Formats: sequence, structure tokens, C-alpha cells
Amino acid sequence: MDYGVWYAISDLFLHIGSFNATVSRKLSMAISQLEQAKSIEEYQQIGILTRDILIEFGQSIYSKNMLIEGMTVPSATDAKRMINYALNHYSANHEDLSDFVKTCYSYAVAIQHNPSVRKESVVQAVSMTSLCIALVIEAIAQSTLFEKRPYYKCPNCGSLDLEVKEHVEGDIDGAWKMDKIVCSDCGWFYIEEMGGMSGVE
Ligand SMILES: [Zn+2]
Repeated sequence: MDYGVWYAISDLFLHIGSFNATVSRKLSMAISQLEQAKSIEEYQQIGILTRDILIEFGQSIYSKNMLIEGMTVPSATDAKRMINYALNHYSANHEDLSDFVKTCYSYAVAIQHNPSVRKESVVQAVSMTSLCIALVIEAIAQSTLFEKRPYYKCPNCGSLDLEVKEHVEGDIDGAWKMDKIVCSDCGWFYIEEMGGMSGVE
């Protein structure tokens, strides 16, 4: 038997951890909760966690600069739009993947609200969502644009309250202006033009 395909799939999953530690940790949490779960309430909780994982992931790849005129601004919990816009921005052929994201999201929400949910459905939801996230990472991480992606969420405190402020830097030839991303909650900042300089004020 040729194990090549299995290695390729497990590589995809391993990639989630190196890409986003929080998403990876929450997926592991969902899997260990699944091993223990016996009641409907516990299954529904895993549905909520799965939805939360998709939101966390969406927030980590979406940025406001992906919006093109006419696009609806996604709310902070609109995982489907955020992931779809990121795919649209970084990857040329993403229709099938966007559909897959929608399916995973609806599945997670359905589990959360299903008073007679079965364990099999929860196993499906968690595995589908893991694979879906791995495939989206695979699709967007190949883009050269992705290396220079702007921030949507503060990497220091997790706040979504990031502001773009004007920053002036003194120079022998005068002053030059640039954009500085600042977190309103913890003071973390990032300046792309200065070689990706960041810190906390
Ligand atoms: Zn912050």
C-alpha cells in the first residue's frame, strides 16, 4: 500500500499548529472533549466550540484591506465572510473551498441547536472543520501576498480594536510619514515600512 496520501494529509493537519497555535489548541480541545462526551449537552458544547474555532481562524486571516467596494463588512463573528474574503484575496480558485467553509459552519451551528444530536454528527463536524481549516491554510499560504498580510487582531492581547494611525519618523533629509497599526487596548504597534517593527508602547 502506498502511504504517500496519508503522509500528505497528516502534514496538512500538522501545518495548522505551526500556522495558528490558538486554532490548533482549540481543535485538540474539541477532539479530547469528544472522547469524553456522553450527553446531548456535551455534544452541543462541542458544536459551539467548533463554530468558535472557525471564527478564531477567520479573524486570524481576514483584514479590512480585503474589502472591495460593494462587499459587506463582516461582523467580528462572521467566520464565513472573513474566510471567504481571505480566500478571494489570496487564492484564485476558491469557490469549492468557500462552499466547504459554509458547510462546516452550518454543521457546527446545527449541532449546537439539535436537541437529539448524535455523536457521529459531532465526529463529522470536528473532522470536517479540521480538514477545511488545513485546506484553507494550504490555499492561502502559497500566496506571496500572504507574507505581507496586515493585522486584523492584536497578536499581543487578541483585541480586534486595531487602529491605523499616522506615524512620523525624523530623518536627516526631513520627516517621512507612514502608517502605524496600534492596538487601542494594550498599546501594541506595528510599522510595516520599518521592516515590520513592532512592540508595546
Ligand atoms: Zn492588544
